[in-house]
Amino acid sequence: MHSKVVKTVCPFCGVGCGMYLSSDAKGEVCGVAPQLDHPISRGKLCDKGWSTVYAVSPENRITQPLKRERDKFIPISWDEVLCSISASLLDTIEQYGPQAVGVISSARATNEDNYAAQKFARAVLKTNNVDHCARICHSPTVAGLKQVLGSGAMTNSTEDVFKAGVIMVIGADPTENHSVLGGQIIQAKQAGATLIVVDPRVTRLAKLADIHLQLQPGTNTALINAMLHVIIANRWHDQAFVEQRCEGFEALAKHVEKVTPESVEALTGLDPQLIRQAAEYYSQSERSMIMYGMGITQFMAGTTNVIALADLVTVCGHIGKPGTGINPLRGQNNVQGACDMGCLPNVYPGYQLADDPNVQAKFAAAWGGEVASTPGLTSMGMTKAALAGKFKSLILFGEDPVVTDPDQNHVREAYQALDLLVVAELTMTETAKLADFVLPAASFAEKNGTFTNCERRVQCIHPVITPVGEAKGDWQWLQALAKAMGSDQLDWPETEAVFDEMTSLTPPYQGMNYPKLEHDYGLQWPCNDDAPQGTTILHQQQFPIGKARLIPAHYVPIDEPTDEDYPLLLTTNRLHFHYGCGSMSRKSPLLERETPPGILFINPRDAGRLAIKPFAAVGVRSRRGYVETRAMVTEDVPPGVVSMPYHFKEAPSNQLTNTAQDPVTKMPELKACAVSVAALPAN
Ligand code: SF4
Repeated sequence: MHSKVVKTVCPFCGVGCGMYLSSDAKGEVCGVAPQLDHPISRGKLCDKGWSTVYAVSPENRITQPLKRERDKFIPISWDEVLCSISASLLDTIEQYGPQAVGVISSARATNEDNYAAQKFARAVLKTNNVDHCARICHSPTVAGLKQVLGSGAMTNSTEDVFKAGVIMVIGADPTENHSVLGGQIIQAKQAGATLIVVDPRVTRLAKLADIHLQLQPGTNTALINAMLHVIIANRWHDQAFVEQRCEGFEALAKHVEKVTPESVEALTGLDPQLIRQAAEYYSQSERSMIMYGMGITQFMAGTTNVIALADLVTVCGHIGKPGTGINPLRGQNNVQGACDMGCLPNVYPGYQLADDPNVQAKFAAAWGGEVASTPGLTSMGMTKAALAGKFKSLILFGEDPVVTDPDQNHVREAYQALDLLVVAELTMTETAKLADFVLPAASFAEKNGTFTNCERRVQCIHPVITPVGEAKGDWQWLQALAKAMGSDQLDWPETEAVFDEMTSLTPPYQGMNYPKLEHDYGLQWPCNDDAPQGTTILHQQQFPIGKARLIPAHYVPIDEPTDEDYPLLLTTNRLHFHYGCGSMSRKSPLLERETPPGILFINPRDAGRLAIKPFAAVGVRSRRGYVETRAMVTEDVPPGVVSMPYHFKEAPSNQLTNTAQDPVTKMPELKACAVSVAALPAN
């Protein structure tokens, strides 16, 4: 075996930094280096990117198919495992129908893997029960932006931070979670941009901001409506843009007429003067850019919050131009791609509606057979149906819902109630531990394919080593499973053929192919006959729905306010050194040493009142569960609010979180629930 170096893309967050990955003569991944001329990362990687070698190292990897026998796993062959899974799936479908089976795909897997997963669900299992973790991060982005603008993705490119006069970061903590981009925002600020940060916590960017609006969790819509009130009352909106490119302005203006900054002061906890100042900065700059994250989406009002933000952007005409736009920061490396590929129960690839008979006919013709026609379940719909005994078999890869979904005890109970749980993974996650069969998955370093980053850029990845042990790429084992079930609909000869089939059916990707993507650094969709070189900025001339539809957004209070029994509000956050359920980042001793496994951020005032010393053991209780962890006493959270990351299975914040959902997208309210905190006796 020879050592090798390939050009590839970081497998962690949605920024999509370019890296070189090298392997040694033993065939192991041994090094990472940034691509100096990469248009996004410009020669930088964050600590996670630099730790990629650990994430895919052969240590702790699942290297062969495993079958549960009572409380342990025994190795079996691929033939045996495929035969057992296919027999079980066919039995279930025959007995209960295709609604009783489903697939959860992965925002960490390639576009090709995700395309194969939804095709396997719709064409082979004949169900629209297909979903992935976008459900619990940016499903309201897709739904909200689509309603106002006609397209649910970042409108601009990340390089636009260097072109913006004002950058407003709301409900996002990019220096922790999208660190290379976070660094670029700091650079832009140092070069003269005005920075507005909206966050209940004092994030690193908040400390540098010109204005920090430290609002009460869950009051985003009230704040944005108050900003709209100030802007419209002062005629700071872009009248010409509104007249030419928007509809619904009058109704929106009427809706916010009485929402003065003073009227929301008690609710948001914000000084009205600061709201006025932020509204002036945002609307009066020639180029203002909004970036937002899960502090907007992970609420019952997730879709409403996104709509309110889209209204704000559009009314000010800050869209369709460099240095502007509404820009959701996607969490995982390919969460944009997994959505684009149609791993959602309501849409086929390219957001073509699953309940549209013409779309069904198009895919049935292309795939050569009948496709699912009944509406599908979301991931949490599958959990609920499993608990009710109506959902029996789940195929899942590259996700760990037992750690990442709200109300962990329920998820565990639901998965234990299934007749069949199949998990394909790199390592033995908490979800994999519950499986009937565990399949060894190939990592990003062992396969080719494409990832789509948060700015819609589709980039190629390349294998630097062969799959460890008997591991297979996700589309390859899905293909083998389809074959075992008697279907040859996934019979592609190589990864490029999966991509080519996908582009032929997915309008925004239609102009892409591997040779074009290899040239430079990928292409941003839409890429088609009208835009053969892709599109860096959406909506420059018109919106996909013609005119933008301004929609009045009504403030929705959080589901579970504090009370006497649960007097503190818990919000969740992520940490710079970790990623998702921790299954990749926690393999790195360098990342692991930086943060204790489990932490509760608490204000000194609350800590003092509860006699909690720094780093002391604490118990955190909500109506759904109880977790013991350590206290980080810090002014970075305001009095009355505590915060926990969800990366740590030792102190899982999702034992505590609320499952109350956004009615449009079923997004759970992960960002706010009531808890009590108590000091524990020192050991
Ligand atoms: Fe990877 Fe994101 Fe860090 Fe870039 S910012 S190196 S994509 S984790």
